[in-house]
Amino acid sequence: MFTFPLRDGDVPIGALDLYKTNRGSLDENDMAAAQTLADVTTAYLLNARARDRARATSNVFHHNSLHDPLTGLPNRQLLQERLTHAAALSKRSHTHAAVLFVDLDRFKDVNDRYGHHVGDALLLAFTDRLSNLVRDGDTLARVSGDEFVIFCEDLRSIDDVEELAERIGQSLKSPFSIMCHDLAVTASVGIAYAGPGEDITDQLVVDADMAMYQVKRRGGAGHQIVDVPHTSPRGDHNVLAAELRTALTLDELDVAYQPIVRPRDRTVVAVEALVRWTRRLRGPVDAPSIIAIAERSDLINEVGDWVLRRACRDRQRWLDRFPGTALDLAVNVSVRQLLQPTFATMVAAALETFETSPTSLVLEVTENLFIDASERVGEVLSALARSGIRIALDDYGTGYSSLGYLAHLPIHVLKIDRCFIADLARPAGEIIVASVNKLAHDLGLQVVAEGVETTARHDIINTVGCDLAQGFLYAKPMDATAIEALLASRTPLPLHGPPQPGPPLGPDIE
Ligand code: C2E
Ligand code: MG
Ligand code: MG
Repeated sequence: MFTFPLRDGDVPIGALDLYKTNRGSLDENDMAAAQTLADVTTAYLLNARARDRARATSNVFHHNSLHDPLTGLPNRQLLQERLTHAAALSKRSHTHAAVLFVDLDRFKDVNDRYGHHVGDALLLAFTDRLSNLVRDGDTLARVSGDEFVIFCEDLRSIDDVEELAERIGQSLKSPFSIMCHDLAVTASVGIAYAGPGEDITDQLVVDADMAMYQVKRRGGAGHQIVDVPHTSPRGDHNVLAAELRTALTLDELDVAYQPIVRPRDRTVVAVEALVRWTRRLRGPVDAPSIIAIAERSDLINEVGDWVLRRACRDRQRWLDRFPGTALDLAVNVSVRQLLQPTFATMVAAALETFETSPTSLVLEVTENLFIDASERVGEVLSALARSGIRIALDDYGTGYSSLGYLAHLPIHVLKIDRCFIADLARPAGEIIVASVNKLAHDLGLQVVAEGVETTARHDIINTVGCDLAQGFLYAKPMDATAIEALLASRTPLPLHGPPQPGPPLGPDIE
């Protein structure tokens, strides 16, 4: 036996053991045969090594193309692949599948305040907490900045997903300790699911995103199962957006008006404009969904502008018929719309076109305005307030319910959300409403109680001293013609259901 070295240039890469079958020393022929065998073996080895390297590199590339570099979690593309794979099996499935869209609230503030290195560390720590909550086999993906998606298959029931969403909320109860900063954060979670045998498509992600967005609109820190009930449950977002665009051009949107009354004498002092849209052949879409679709498809400006102009036009017509009527107009404005550079000009143009005094207009904003947005909010609100427009803080009680910003921002009206009003049956509920009412009054704000549905609640908010009230007890939202009839009757609203014509009363609607 003899050993022949294998070399790559000068670098030894192995050895070839050769066995000589006949006795005697090696001759020239033996050496030549051995050299040939060694060359061939070396070539094989080098080839195999190159192939292994190429495979490893390609694996790294493949892995990188499917994973997020910061957290190492699957990225949007891998999530998509998992959904496609699940879709192929979904028809035969006897279980539920769900997508949770998780978005950290006010993450931008963390980056702005402490820098991106702290933001990144927070994302890693959050990833850690999320990873501990998901089951083996679930996909936890990071789809962008602070947006994560959890895709769960084989769920016994949809309750399991709600439980998971609750556990995500619980997991954020203790703050993160990041580079000497204690960071308390909350998350908004949107959920969409497919029942047994239902199609699993990437539409689930779009729907969950939309549900997450609705949580954000309410002020974040919570979860919601997708609620697009009057559209198709899985209406394609792009189709809805295209339909909404068409509806805008064809003037197919509508506005309903809900009277706002003074509880003391039930006279109507204002109406709130609420957007309405009925899809052809499909029926009505609820207002929060219209707004969510509009915001997601960059149509919010057009929709907001349309509602404001229509409302000013209708009010102008009412006043033409009943000159001297004192009737304020409340119009909801979404954060995205308010932060558009053209917003103030657009409002001014609508007011001018329909000869509406700025002092008759109340713009309703929600608390989420103060979550993600910056000083710009203060500037815009101040500019509006300087022109005489009043600002109402809508749905107070569903978001952070912090009154801190009221001291710094020009807010004139506080609308107590109907969840507080619904709670009036309990003694603690009354105490809360009375305290909020007093605090708001001390800060010089007018108070509107929203969602008053029963005479018992009416009596309490009246006793507590809320300035104004709104709710199904007085009147449901109605079309412009019904408001006209109401103004014609000059009747205080009865405390039971929709308005009825009656003898001329109501000195307050002059
Ligand atoms: P919001 O501004 O708080 O409007 C009041 C909502 O509560 C309306 O629902 C109204 O129909 C409902 N409501 C009033 N009284 C009662 C009551 O006694 N009981 C119950 N259960 N509900 C009552 P709607 O029209 O579905 O609007 C929902 C939300 O959609 C609005 O809440 C507002 O945030 C948003 N929205 C509606 N129209 C527009 C719009 O033109 N622009 C924007 N940005 N948002 C809008
Ligand atoms: Mg409102
Ligand atoms: Mg409200």
